[in-house]
Amino acid sequence: MTPVRRQYLKIKNAYPDALVLFRLGDFYETFDADAHLASRELEITLTARSMGKGLKVPMAGVPAHALESYLARLIKKGHRVAICEQLADPAASRGLVERDVVRVVTPGTILESALLEQNANNYLSAVVEDGPVAGLAYVDITTGEFAVAQLDLERLLPELERIAPAEILIPAGDALPNWVGGNGSGAGPRYPGPDGGEPYRHGYPLTQLNPATFDLDLAKEALLSHYGIRSLESFGCESLPLAVRAAGAILDYLGQTYKTGKLRLAALRVYSSAAYMVLDSQTRRNLELFQAGRWENQRFSLLTALDATRTAMGGRLLRRWLGQPLLQLEELEQRHDAVEHYFTDAFRRSDARSTLADIADLERILGRIQAGTVAPRELIALKTGLEATTRLAATLEGEGAAPVAWLLRQLAPAPDAVTLVTEAIAPEPSGSVGEGNIIREGFSPELDQLKAASREARGFIAGLEARERERTGIRSLRVGYNQIFGYYIEISKSNLGQTPADYIRRQTLANGERYIVPELKEYESLALNARERIHEIEQSLFRQVCGQLGCHAEAISRLAAASAVVDVFSALAEVAVQHNYVRPRLGLDQAINIKDGRHPVVERTLGAGVYVPNDVQLSNDDARIIIITGPNMAGKSTYIRQTAIIVLMAQIGSFVPAAEAQIGLVDRIFTRVGLQDDLTTGQSTFMVEMLETAAILNQATPRSLVILDEIGRGTSTYDGLSIARSVIEHLHNDPRLGCKSLFATHYHELTELAQTLPGVRNYSVAVAEEEGRVVFLHRIVAGGADRSYGVHVAQLAGLPRAVVNRAWEVLEELERPGAGNRNGSGGRRVGPATLQLPLFQPEQPVTAAVLALDIPNLTPLEAINKLYELQGKARNPDEKFG
Ligand code: ADP
Ligand code: MG
Repeated sequence: MTPVRRQYLKIKNAYPDALVLFRLGDFYETFDADAHLASRELEITLTARSMGKGLKVPMAGVPAHALESYLARLIKKGHRVAICEQLADPAASRGLVERDVVRVVTPGTILESALLEQNANNYLSAVVEDGPVAGLAYVDITTGEFAVAQLDLERLLPELERIAPAEILIPAGDALPNWVGGNGSGAGPRYPGPDGGEPYRHGYPLTQLNPATFDLDLAKEALLSHYGIRSLESFGCESLPLAVRAAGAILDYLGQTYKTGKLRLAALRVYSSAAYMVLDSQTRRNLELFQAGRWENQRFSLLTALDATRTAMGGRLLRRWLGQPLLQLEELEQRHDAVEHYFTDAFRRSDARSTLADIADLERILGRIQAGTVAPRELIALKTGLEATTRLAATLEGEGAAPVAWLLRQLAPAPDAVTLVTEAIAPEPSGSVGEGNIIREGFSPELDQLKAASREARGFIAGLEARERERTGIRSLRVGYNQIFGYYIEISKSNLGQTPADYIRRQTLANGERYIVPELKEYESLALNARERIHEIEQSLFRQVCGQLGCHAEAISRLAAASAVVDVFSALAEVAVQHNYVRPRLGLDQAINIKDGRHPVVERTLGAGVYVPNDVQLSNDDARIIIITGPNMAGKSTYIRQTAIIVLMAQIGSFVPAAEAQIGLVDRIFTRVGLQDDLTTGQSTFMVEMLETAAILNQATPRSLVILDEIGRGTSTYDGLSIARSVIEHLHNDPRLGCKSLFATHYHELTELAQTLPGVRNYSVAVAEEEGRVVFLHRIVAGGADRSYGVHVAQLAGLPRAVVNRAWEVLEELERPGAGNRNGSGGRRVGPATLQLPLFQPEQPVTAAVLALDIPNLTPLEAINKLYELQGKARNPDEKFG
């Protein structure tokens, strides 16, 4: 076995679960099973290499300069990759070059911009559970954001869905935690489906770690030493052991994946998930917050509709805000004030927005500075961006700017960082660090001298050929260079007679001779030495500058964060102006009154002036539940979603698409969509629908807003109607609930509930009938629909004339009084007369039996027996009474 082979095996043994990319000269090579895997996944040639006597090892490699793109493919396919570098210069070392793994790249620990999505954070998260409580930590190493929470287990899932981590660390154990769900089996990471969305449908991107990694004492120690502090009190997590353990696991993992250099993270932020509105995955999907339908990508999500941000940082922040609507009135007023600040003054707004265009991704540049992977050009972008923040601050000054003074304070300039980059880095750095074009002239006299010397030497050599031709009169005289002799002067055979006396012969060729002159060698070594020194000095200066910038990290990240916030505010203002939104009036009372509300996404897909605005009035008393009926395609779903979206927009700080809106803050928005309307859950079942409905009934509070769309549709008409009806009754009657609900249904029979339930209001979508054809007006009017217009819609959809006519006939027959007898031999048929489902119908045998009971004279046992009997009868009406 060759020494390199032994070295490789030793390293591979330490990283059994990673694909090891082993640096050999200009390539990263993989061996053995890794080589087979790499050649398959990267579509590169599988070769073999002799690594000892009679030992041929499978090998596949990628060129070192193309590492990033290959890395991206491996990570996307769910592999962990260990990068093993040469730790010494192979030219300078004797024997075997020292090698070791410098980094393990995993989905949650990527820094390379090519692998990252600009407008989304890339989170690494850790979860540890104890009984009903969980500790959750997450970090984005590209921005330094680091947050922890300790929360009830039932809140964990929505929280993980919000964060959507690229990787989740959990303690390895016999069983995977419950929240992993049915897909969680076996070890190893699991990744989103090929459509790239909804990872939780397919399982979690889990990485299981040794449980000791989650040890409390180790975690505390790791946190204290990472931040160089004496107590966790300053973070406010000393009494949150699970949160600390999760954070500790993250630090440990980062230590193992980033072997060289310590990553610097922002101060640990302890948060409570109770401070934000919970948005479960159903709601995120039904309201199409981040993704429209699964196949439509993100083209028409609410996020894209609102995202007029100019910076990547602002884009990420808006995404975070949309996932975490606020519950605090003061905080929200503050946001609305800031949006208004840019809304009312077009000059301010366009100033801010054009300034923001000059601000690069300061967060991620800072991250790369601290990780030691920043490119010189990015430092110039950093400087330009920091300078621009001063202009940005100016847009927060002036008349009426008092409400945004808090933001202005955060934009206090960081002149030292700007000065440092301006003085140290060339205005247009080019090439890689060490080639001499990165550090600005005048920053280091030593470097400038070396560069001058190098220039002079190269100038001398460059001019030598012409000078010597002149001096010797040999027109074919040539100055060349090779590895062995360095620079030389070559004279061809026919001209050898004219060779000057001071030429020293070095090499004889078939058709000439090569010479040197002492002066040439002097300049040559001058140039070589200068180049080496330039390389060393420039690299060390660059590292030094980065180190110094690291000292300004706090100021830089403050400015980055503040720019992101200004970006979001001015973007929301821009959208509000362009699309005619208004500032909502927020309150703690529980009423929601929206005048001329619109659906922000649908209105835009329809084009100008087409969308029909509608009002909504909800309260916690007499208009607690609104039932919206109307034919298919009338606009019911759009209307109820629009209400939820307007509330949500108000609670992230945005203006809203309405003429006027008064929003009593909502603690949670629930949405459920009946089976047939829910395009995205092809494999969902009626059971799931019911489970989800049950979850609402269990979790809603008087401050919640519940959106139910065609609930009960996933089963037969009778079951569906019964369930829909009992859900409404429960929402209405349960004293714990009293939440505001919007219920869209094509079961017009449900409108009767308003007669018995005082908190129920009926609305319907107006339709006009013109010559037997239905015309959708999309206007919501008081009162329920009297029918479903199903046949109208079928006709509109282009069903053949004959079929439509026959449907009219059948409908007429069904609607004749007395038709559609439920107890008839025809089985369950749908007709208005039987759809009302009175609990007690006098002609029913069960009813008759109940009425016949002599209750005072029944023993308890007899009563129970009777109940069983009645139940049996009710289940099977055709059976005779015993
Ligand atoms: P329903 O739930 O009643 O079947 P939808 O809400 O799905 O109907 O709406 C059907 C279509 O009608 C939408 O895709 C949209 O194009 C249009 N629509 C809905 N509401 C409006 C409105 N207020 N103004 C204009 N068009 C609307
Ligand atoms: Mg609908």
